[in-house]
Amino acid sequence: MKRTETKILPQASPGTSRTLEVLYYGTPGARPKAYIQAGLHADEAPGYVVLHHLIGLLDKADSAGTIGGEIVVVPAANPIGLSQWRDDALQGRFDFANSINFNRQHQDLIDRLIDQIGPRLGADGAANVAAIRASASRILSEVQPETEAQSLKLLLISLSHDADVVLDLHCDLQALMHVYIGTPLWPDGEDLSAQMGAAATLLAADSGGTPFDEANSRPWWVLAERFPDQPIPSACMAATVELRGISDTDPETIVEDSKNLFFFLQRRGVIDGIPPQLPALKNPATPLTGVDYVKAPVPGIIVYEKRPGDRVGAGETIASIINPLPADDSLSVVEVKSRTDGLIFSRLVDRFARPGRVIAKVAGSRPLCSEEGNLLTL
Ligand SMILES: [Zn+2]
Repeated sequence: MKRTETKILPQASPGTSRTLEVLYYGTPGARPKAYIQAGLHADEAPGYVVLHHLIGLLDKADSAGTIGGEIVVVPAANPIGLSQWRDDALQGRFDFANSINFNRQHQDLIDRLIDQIGPRLGADGAANVAAIRASASRILSEVQPETEAQSLKLLLISLSHDADVVLDLHCDLQALMHVYIGTPLWPDGEDLSAQMGAAATLLAADSGGTPFDEANSRPWWVLAERFPDQPIPSACMAATVELRGISDTDPETIVEDSKNLFFFLQRRGVIDGIPPQLPALKNPATPLTGVDYVKAPVPGIIVYEKRPGDRVGAGETIASIINPLPADDSLSVVEVKSRTDGLIFSRLVDRFARPGRVIAKVAGSRPLCSEEGNLLTL
């Protein structure tokens, strides 16, 4: 039966307090468990709308008694960011209090799990999964958050960390549907990208900065490496789903996205019923290290020559930057080129460049940097 719970965040300033609404479907403790949230970056519109429609589908499944697993839905994951209006624009990506990205610095459980879990592991993989989840619960219950945002992040991962599937719904600026997922979760997670119609899937074992999906999924493969003699499966398939661009709330695509999430949950056994045949994966997954974050070398106004969906070769021009007040004539028009062969999957909404600003993203298969650990944009 559907159940709704309202969690109250600790008061951050006198006379205010914020709440987080959590929807529960299915039987508590039933497996598989799925956790889905929207709006961790509070100014990203599509996720809220996709979840609005998905909740409608889940309500029907609940009435029909076809939710065999457990589903936890957080329709608006960041009430702090949702209140951050400034000059008539909602700014929900960074915490106004300290400029920390709301999708970074989630609880990194790895070191604490390594300290505790060794003696509790054995030869039974399923028992190890249960022991690790229990340890993670204990560790999280002992955390003392200092700030309102830390309290929020702790609450979210406390709801999600023991799920079999975690989906964090985001969007990019002007972009195609794409998915970020841990390298060890591929190709197991191919059904997610294929069902959602993702044009790009970006793989990293450690993106850096502990985004929400990796806070849930990464402990599993790091523990498996640390304790190679004990079976430890990657028991949490967490992914960040980028639902195109910030203004992509067209009814047709949004309703389709919600149905695709529902079909994915059916395919994963969370909801009873047989989904339609899985669509073919649009493009093979590529490493996150292969993404060319195309940066503006100079300031000026951007004139794009390519758009999301275009394929480019290394050295091909993506945009020109026009400087109306150049330091010298050679800087009045500067071409910006791709460093890789690949698919343009994102570009800016506005058209202003300053040196170092990422103005486009190209998914290529060839790694452009060797090190993982700091692969995401601001
Ligand atoms: Zn986001």
